[in-house]
Amino acid sequence: MGRAVIILLGAPGVGKGTQAKRLAASTGLPHVSTGDLFRENLSKGTPLGLEAKGYMESGKLVPDDLVLRMLFDRVAQADCARGYLLDGFPRTEPQAQALDRALEGVAEPLVVELALADEEIIERAAGRLVCKDCGNIQHLRFAAPAVEGVCDACGGELQQRKDDRPEVVSERLSVYRAQTAPLVAYYGRRAGLERIDASRSADSIFEELQTLVGAHLARVGEAV
Ligand code: AMP
Repeated sequence: MGRAVIILLGAPGVGKGTQAKRLAASTGLPHVSTGDLFRENLSKGTPLGLEAKGYMESGKLVPDDLVLRMLFDRVAQADCARGYLLDGFPRTEPQAQALDRALEGVAEPLVVELALADEEIIERAAGRLVCKDCGNIQHLRFAAPAVEGVCDACGGELQQRKDDRPEVVSERLSVYRAQTAPLVAYYGRRAGLERIDASRSADSIFEELQTLVGAHLARVGEAV
């Protein structure tokens, strides 16, 4: 049986986390988000979290060596043996190359780009709310909570991520354009890059993703 590695590429706030959570639930593959891993390290006050803090809060990328160490530790865990869903990784060409080396002869990843115009990206990130307790992602406009400030999923408190403040969002967007967007061309040079118009509803994006991922899982010999 092959290993199913799915990479969700796209700008901040485009819906990678929302879709990855849903895909994780429907496929049983673990959702591996480097942003979530850094936030966990930060809230536990680990040395890695403290090293990453300044970069994260200013909207910059954490240096590749820190990211790679953390990511490869995570995907070496038993729950990733069948494969995993990557959200927020890779974000630079050296990260993509390191992943390629690690997957050589092991898996050919499916790469899906969630594509959205810049103006919309700012609006998405600026309205995003994340539950402090369960990590559920909502949005002031696109997935408004039934009760203001309260998570629909668990009743916990919804918060805005520190790096979703407008001044940090525009920095994250320019970092994305400069360092991560070139990965679309990097992966576009070979088979396996798919593109989804992310301006549509979360449900229709999910439907299209499920079709792509289902076909990929069938190819690598996994049950959907
Ligand atoms: P995210 O939740 O994916 O938006 O990530 C939040 C922040 O964590 C980013 O703005 C970066 O500072 C850092 N980060 C997450 N993933 C990576 C990565 N693959 N490379 C470098 N920095 C990352």
